[in-house]
Amino acid sequence: MDGKNRPDLPIYLDYQATTPLDPRALEAMMPYFTAKCGNPHSVDHRYGWEAEAGVEKARKEIASLIGAKPDEIYFTSGATESNNIALKGISYTHYPAKNHIITCLTEHESVVQTARSLEKQGFDVTFLKVDKEGLIDLDELKEMITNKTIMVSIMGVNNEIGVIQDLAAIGDICAEKNIIFHSDCAQAAGKIPLNIQDMKITAMSLSCHKIYGPKGIGALYLKKNTDIIALFDGGGQERGLRSGTLSPALCAGMGMAYRTAQTEMQQDYDHALKLSQRIKEIIFEGLDNVCLNGHADIRFPGNLNFTFRDSRSDLLVREFTNIAISTGSACSSAKVGSSHVLSALGADKKSIQSSVRIGFGRMTSMDQAEYAARRLVEIVKMVRGAA
Ligand SMILES: *Cc1c(COP(=O)(O)O)cnc(C)c1O
Repeated sequence: MDGKNRPDLPIYLDYQATTPLDPRALEAMMPYFTAKCGNPHSVDHRYGWEAEAGVEKARKEIASLIGAKPDEIYFTSGATESNNIALKGISYTHYPAKNHIITCLTEHESVVQTARSLEKQGFDVTFLKVDKEGLIDLDELKEMITNKTIMVSIMGVNNEIGVIQDLAAIGDICAEKNIIFHSDCAQAAGKIPLNIQDMKITAMSLSCHKIYGPKGIGALYLKKNTDIIALFDGGGQERGLRSGTLSPALCAGMGMAYRTAQTEMQQDYDHALKLSQRIKEIIFEGLDNVCLNGHADIRFPGNLNFTFRDSRSDLLVREFTNIAISTGSACSSAKVGSSHVLSALGADKKSIQSSVRIGFGRMTSMDQAEYAARRLVEIVKMVRGAA
């Protein structure tokens, strides 16, 4: 998937949609697909115990990355499910005494649509605006909090434009008003330092496949003694919050992915920063009328979202046969020109239709980054010339 080992495939530059699997995560998973085949919830024999041991080891590794305790980590199928459990499961316990939720226009669809669904059920939702760089206004957040507010849900790193919200400052505001702070950290975990205590976070959604682990697993961090109700009924696994048999293989893969991310975070970050600087250099030297979407500095460097004026991104992406980049988030790229994130930054339809996201990381080489940036310059010139 890194385009180096698979010369028949395009260079992979869509790391916000998903990342390649780190071989170390794959290796950690393998025994649980074969010899260690037990159900981790079987308590009567060694097969069950060894599968359970694998799950619990992973739980510790995940907790460690964010400064939580292992029994505050609940496995789920991914950040989408975690966002649903956190927003709905917590809000329901407060309704109708309290009915207000604050989130933001640029959240991932799995938060935006969950909030919309709660709206239909009688909750009041405030969608905070962002400035043209993609950041929320903390004073506005403060003003919106009422005595009906249950929680604030603001993401760490944005999946479309990479900007980083000030979680510690938001956590301070929430703690002061004694309301719950939930953060979707699918794109932040393992990429920037996160600590649930320093950031005063009550609930955090985690994914695994955005940080070099397998798809189909994630977790919810939930601070001890937080009121919540389960969305599924069943066998009561995950301390009653998330019934269903866990996959020890996926759990072990996630544990290893998180452990690796913790030890290599600085190295990964420095690598992404170096690639990002070089890509920007090539693009800004080669082209006029380009803008980088989102704050120039308060961002994760492995995500660059550009608007190339007068060059439609669907045409660009089509020309890009040997490089895999995207016109927006994986969940909304079926509708070109419909990015709710770029709209919230104030971009018009034409600009949105001329935007592409380039995502890279651990497996991307400098050669690949330079090659892609140079090709992008050529192709934008070509598409502009043809227009
Ligand atoms: C990918 C992503 C999700 C969804 O995560 P899954 O594990 O694929 O369900 C949620 N939020 C953000 C910010 C994401 O990037």
